[in-house]
Amino acid sequence: MNDVFKIIENMPPWFWLGWVFLLGSFVGSFLNVVVYRLPRNCLSINNPKRSFCPSCKTQLKWNDNLPIIGWLLLRGKCRYCGVKFGIRYPLVELLTAVLFAFAAWRVLYADGNLAGQWAAWLTLLHILLMIGVLLPWALIDLDLTYIPDKLTLGPLVVFVPFAAHADALQFGLTGSGTRYTHLWFDFSPIWLNSVLSAVLTGIAAAGVLWLIGKASNVIFAKRVQQIGGEAMGGADVKLMVLLGVMLGWPKLLAAFFVAIFVGAIIGSAQLLLKKTHGTPFGPYLTLGALVAALGSQWIRLLYDWYMGILQGLA
Ligand SMILES: [Zn+2]
Repeated sequence: MNDVFKIIENMPPWFWLGWVFLLGSFVGSFLNVVVYRLPRNCLSINNPKRSFCPSCKTQLKWNDNLPIIGWLLLRGKCRYCGVKFGIRYPLVELLTAVLFAFAAWRVLYADGNLAGQWAAWLTLLHILLMIGVLLPWALIDLDLTYIPDKLTLGPLVVFVPFAAHADALQFGLTGSGTRYTHLWFDFSPIWLNSVLSAVLTGIAAAGVLWLIGKASNVIFAKRVQQIGGEAMGGADVKLMVLLGVMLGWPKLLAAFFVAIFVGAIIGSAQLLLKKTHGTPFGPYLTLGALVAALGSQWIRLLYDWYMGILQGLA
């Protein structure tokens, strides 16, 4: 077994990054199917097995289905009826592939060659699964401004057991003193501690968001009556449970701040440009979660730099 990991470690980085990129492009292709079919209740994910043209319903050939390349070969048009396939399909495939390869570089090579350690691969798998859940979230939310339960409560089945791998949740965080900064308790075994901490993070985050929602329903009662709903929907609360379990608490906080920060900038720009409906919050949360998962070290550098400037001013 050790020999296998020795071979894996000695392979050139481009070999693994290339494979993960290729895997990402196929996953992206599958995510396009999920985003199209999941909100349409009459279509299931695996039936029909092969993709079809949404206009003339002709089944696509296998080579038309190839990620990125298929779209380029067809020049974005159906071979049979000539209807245009949106540029979003190949872009989602490309984005997934790039994110996958970036995650692999970040986990396996950015802090020295860790490709010979199984824990690093498990961490990478954790992050790739996150990308696979968060991207369809963001896209369905952009399309329909809601996120189906299948994408919030469903993935808990995978991510709660995954939280047992404490190193994955700790990845990218520089602990001061204690090694695992995401743990809430002080007991062994570490895997049980890690699972409980992650689940508690999710429940606490959902609770805080629920309280904020209730409070704003009271404070902005008139406005809430006007729009005929609640300030914070039940879906947002479910999202927070999953995000908490995926990320652990310090990263969840980072994800939330990145989401609010970017959301405020883009939201103001949309107001200035007089776009009537703004972007829903899901895509910002997705961006925040990805930045927190892959870039927590850089967030920390930014934070230290900012605090340094503040101290310089004082
Ligand atoms: Zn067609």
